[in-house]
Amino acid sequence: MVLRIAIQKSGRLNEDSMKLLKECGIDIANGVNKLRTEASNFPIEVYFLRDDDIPQYVEDEVADIGFVGENVVYEKNKKVEVVEQLGFGKCRLSIAVSRNEVYNDVSYLHGKRIATTYPVIVRKFMEEQGVDAEIHEISGSVEIAPGIGLAHAICDLVSSGSTLFMNGLKEVETVLKSQAVLIKSSHLNEEKQRLLDKLLFRIKAVKRSKNNKYILLNAPNDKLSEIIGLLPGMKSPTVLPLAESGWSSVHSVLKESDFWEIIEKLKEAGAQGILVVPIEKMII
Ligand code: ATP
Ligand code: MG
Repeated sequence: MVLRIAIQKSGRLNEDSMKLLKECGIDIANGVNKLRTEASNFPIEVYFLRDDDIPQYVEDEVADIGFVGENVVYEKNKKVEVVEQLGFGKCRLSIAVSRNEVYNDVSYLHGKRIATTYPVIVRKFMEEQGVDAEIHEISGSVEIAPGIGLAHAICDLVSSGSTLFMNGLKEVETVLKSQAVLIKSSHLNEEKQRLLDKLLFRIKAVKRSKNNKYILLNAPNDKLSEIIGLLPGMKSPTVLPLAESGWSSVHSVLKESDFWEIIEKLKEAGAQGILVVPIEKMII
């Protein structure tokens, strides 16, 4: 029995999808132009597909699970379950209009034409907002639609916003925040579910390790309790005596997001020789 996973063949999600599997200790021979391959050390088979097709393959049980953007999952609206956010492929689906337009709120879009490759998501958003707009589905090059008189507005994926800017557009509404997710079929048998649980255990350990750093520092003993008070730690920090008397070495784990603020306070409290080290895997 193998778990069949569908990932993007080439494009923005391919590299990070392969990397995540590798970080989970799964060795995949990535033969050039191979559409299907197996791992040598985990019962998993990988199918390389267009991202648009992944939800359908999972609904049809041709693949058991898949890595794909939430934007594609909601647009395709197939019978699949979203199991875990993967932390890469972050972007947003936004509405943009020409930079010269005066835009105050969504009511601007009343009676206007919006060009998009995401008609399902945009229609739902317009309904929720009570706006009656015409949705014009196109399959690419969405950004040029306003400039050539095809539409008044567009709805497209944005990460930095530089493509919009270059095309004389400004972002006015966020319709959806998206990242890559793991989806699964609703009909996994027990054995496949067990394999998925095993994979998920590893994925969570990898994600956690990315959000955390290991920190080591030297503290004068008279400042030890103040310094320990600043450190969260998985349970509590580890404290070891240094060879030099009156000093201790303190080890702990820090959230990446709290990192700079805590480092500053540690320095102020008298910590020295602070080392911050990446964590490869983190099991709690
Ligand atoms: P495919 O050939 O597989 O259909 P594609 O051209 O549809 O590829 P990509 O452009 O590779 O797709 O994007 C894949 C996914 O990457 C998107 O669906 C989205 O979830 C995510 N993504 C992240 N940032 C961006 C961005 N700036 N623009 C577009 N997609 C992004
Ligand atoms: Mg696609």
